[in-house]
Amino acid sequence: MLTELLELEGVKVVSRHQHKGIGIILEIEPIHQESICPRCGEKSHKLHQNHRYIIKDLPWGESPVFLEINRRQFKCKKCKRPFSEELDFVEKRRTYTKRLANRIVQEVLEKDINSVAKKGLVTTEEIERMLKDASSELAEFKPTDLKRLGIDEIALIKGKGNYCAVLIDLDKSKLIAILQKRTQEEIKKVLLGWGTEVLEKVEEVSIDLWKGYRSLYCLL
Ligand SMILES: [Zn+2]
Repeated sequence: MLTELLELEGVKVVSRHQHKGIGIILEIEPIHQESICPRCGEKSHKLHQNHRYIIKDLPWGESPVFLEINRRQFKCKKCKRPFSEELDFVEKRRTYTKRLANRIVQEVLEKDINSVAKKGLVTTEEIERMLKDASSELAEFKPTDLKRLGIDEIALIKGKGNYCAVLIDLDKSKLIAILQKRTQEEIKKVLLGWGTEVLEKVEEVSIDLWKGYRSLYCLL
């Protein structure tokens, strides 16, 4: 039942604890007994060691949810070396699920980093990490059928006066790019990188009030 509610592929909930003032802690285990070696592609069943740690997930109602996960290490028969398994729902060396990161980035776009951090679920450092990850994930993305482009900005915490620029497909409410700087040159580089076949379809650009963007109009 809890496994179904959690809606994460490839894992099952084995126990649940609730701690007052902290939230719900779900202990989960991978369903599959094997994993594929990233070096040689060989399937491995040989468990080398368990590696359990706690990450944050989407809250249930008002309750924060933590997952105690097990990222197992297997020993590859072929390479004779251990490797750590990939989990679909959480990147390595991250303290939160991918879906929590997506939700938080969306919230930051609607509000700002400080007010999202104030809710207590994630820290400002985690949010800035999420934005960086989203930025590199989207780096190669090229929009199709983009008609209304929104250009916005997010004020960063580190280094006063630092901003990310955010490009959004307004019709699909979809994030297209996060740029580490909001300079005209950075944005111009991305837009030109899409090529004329994408830019020609853009009918409307909605630009944040920051005056630095205005002259970008002539590109479109
Ligand atoms: Zn191998």
